[in-house]
Amino acid sequence: ARARTAIERHARLVPDFPEPGVAFKDLTPVLAAADGLAAVTEALADVCAGADLIAGIDARGFLLGGAIAHRLGIGVVAVRKGGKLPPPVVGVDYDLEYGSARLEVPASGIEFAGRRVAVVDDVLATGGTLCASVELLMRMGASVRDVAVVMELEGFPGRTRVEAAGGGSLRVHN
Ligand code: IMP
Repeated sequence: ARARTAIERHARLVPDFPEPGVAFKDLTPVLAAADGLAAVTEALADVCAGADLIAGIDARGFLLGGAIAHRLGIGVVAVRKGGKLPPPVVGVDYDLEYGSARLEVPASGIEFAGRRVAVVDDVLATGGTLCASVELLMRMGASVRDVAVVMELEGFPGRTRVEAAGGGSLRVHN
């Protein structure tokens, strides 16, 4: 409830971004406000409590992921857009409405196998980004039970798609 209030107070609706006709929910001011960051971090940390590693999705998921992981006393890894991480990396390509995109995680230095990874992002829309992230982490041997987002856009099949990508035992929280 505290997170809901902070979101209503601080979130900004940007018309016609990134394309005409799209209303972009900008959560940047929520994270920039002390009460907003605290409320959102607390709410998302609660649902990620079973994890031993947080994966934050490029780029606002990094901010949330770090705060949540610190609160839970666990570590965080960034799931980055293609081409940003030093090798070796492992990646997944996925389709966007127009074109395609790629997400990557380090293939060395972080043990994913057997870890309980919770995935964090700001907004869930079509679910393409989170499905690709979940698939990538599962391919690395991680168990992904929880996906936490600050906001779920209405009128998209995002939640259903992401839960299906997790193979039955995954829950999306917001
Ligand atoms: P999806 O892959 O269609 O679910 O889109 C989710 C990804 O795009 C997330 O990483 C979001 O940060 C970003 N995104 C999509 N729509 C919005 C929006 O309205 N506000 C903020 N981010 C968005």
